[in-house]
Amino acid sequence: MIKPIIDDKTVDKIRSLINSADNIVVTCHMSPDGDAIGSTLALTHVLRRMGKNARAVTPDMVPRVLNFLPEMRHVTVLTQDEDAAREAIKEAKLVFCLDFNTLARIDRLGDMLSLSRAPRVLIDHHLDPDKDEFSVMVSVPEASSTCELVFRLLLQMGIVNMVDRRTAQCLYTGLMTDTGNFTYSCDNPEVFEIASLLARRRIDVPYLYRMAMNTFSADSIRLQGYALCEKMQLFTDQGAALLTLTLDELKRFNYHRGDTESLVNKPLAIPEVNWVVFLREDVDRIKVSCRSKGDFSVKELCEKYYGGGGHTNAAGADFRGTLDQAVAIFYDILSSPHPLLQEETER
Ligand code: MN
Repeated sequence: MIKPIIDDKTVDKIRSLINSADNIVVTCHMSPDGDAIGSTLALTHVLRRMGKNARAVTPDMVPRVLNFLPEMRHVTVLTQDEDAAREAIKEAKLVFCLDFNTLARIDRLGDMLSLSRAPRVLIDHHLDPDKDEFSVMVSVPEASSTCELVFRLLLQMGIVNMVDRRTAQCLYTGLMTDTGNFTYSCDNPEVFEIASLLARRRIDVPYLYRMAMNTFSADSIRLQGYALCEKMQLFTDQGAALLTLTLDELKRFNYHRGDTESLVNKPLAIPEVNWVVFLREDVDRIKVSCRSKGDFSVKELCEKYYGGGGHTNAAGADFRGTLDQAVAIFYDILSSPHPLLQEETER
């Protein structure tokens, strides 16, 4: 039994907003992951089936590894076709914002959206959404994924029959990728009930797993091997691991976006490691990616030290500085008497 968790008023509001809008834009965060693009494609597809002129607009490129998802060719990528993105937003009478909690997270697309008068509906599971930016919010930090929330919304709107095989593939992909193939963020058994309902739409579960979670180029496998062998530093007294990769190193392995996608999780397999910081040099920033086990919150750590955010066990930031500075901050964290470091994280 899947209990309704979105309040009726919110569901009614979203229903009437959809009813009174023909042109609808669905958008998600930068560097879309399986949940962001999965929920975006699924909702766009359902809205189209309802006869709406719905368009998926992403702030930047979707990683190649997710190109297998159905309907990907209908996505407008702002950084590739700015005119089309601008046009779509100009015409939109309603905008869905999926899997992010503030317009600042979608860069130039956020600037475009803030100029539009179309109401914005947030569907998201990150903590602390920016309430002023959205007309209606479905914000449930306890949810496994935004895909779970989209499914719940459709269920509560009484249109879950609109979820066809293609939509189910997209939603299942988000559920799967945001829970590490159902290994975390899925304490609520209803997550498995939703997965089961999606699986009934004749989706190929092993295929989706292979495509979304276990497809890497040879270069990527070698880069990850190199990072773990040569670049992983362990600080077992503090339960920490640090991974760094410079632009030169990335170039050496012919790096493409997404190539280090699951690397940050690897050190957590070591029993003594409770939290991991991965610093990847980019042209104008350092991509910070943090993971942890149990109660140890990397969200606060990312916020406080690198100006980012995220979830308790998975957080990130765009740090505007050099790799050396980002590494120095890591050592500051290690040596600080921060309560996080004294926390008992064993489960
Ligand atoms: Mn998500």
